[in-house]
Amino acid sequence: KEELYVLDPERLIPCPYNKHHRIRACRFPYHLVKCKKSYPEVAKKLATCPFNARHLVPQADLSDHVLKCSDKGLIEQDIGKRTTCALRCLFTLEMNAMSTWQAPPCDEDWETGEELPHLPR
Ligand SMILES: [Zn+2]
Ligand SMILES: [Zn+2]
Repeated sequence: KEELYVLDPERLIPCPYNKHHRIRACRFPYHLVKCKKSYPEVAKKLATCPFNARHLVPQADLSDHVLKCSDKGLIEQDIGKRTTCALRCLFTLEMNAMSTWQAPPCDEDWETGEELPHLPR
């Protein structure tokens, strides 16, 4: 799937460690590894994009990047599906927990139910 988003391998990408570096897309991962060692102080201040581990942005700019990230749409769809599913599972679990939690006391107290007319069945 990612191939769709890897554009021209000759495309120049600005290095997150030194903005004077322009690296060809195909060399970018290697350059990052090298440059990270050269700029450990900068590396500490960089945050990894949650949508693409190859996007390194200054921590201060991360929220901005996340809004604009080109990989967001693709992954959000994916996460969207998973989230919906996860939510559904959670909801089901919660419903189960609630029903098992509510159910038992009713039977026991039912004999004296006249004093507690609103006791749920
Ligand atoms: Zn660099
Ligand atoms: Zn990104």
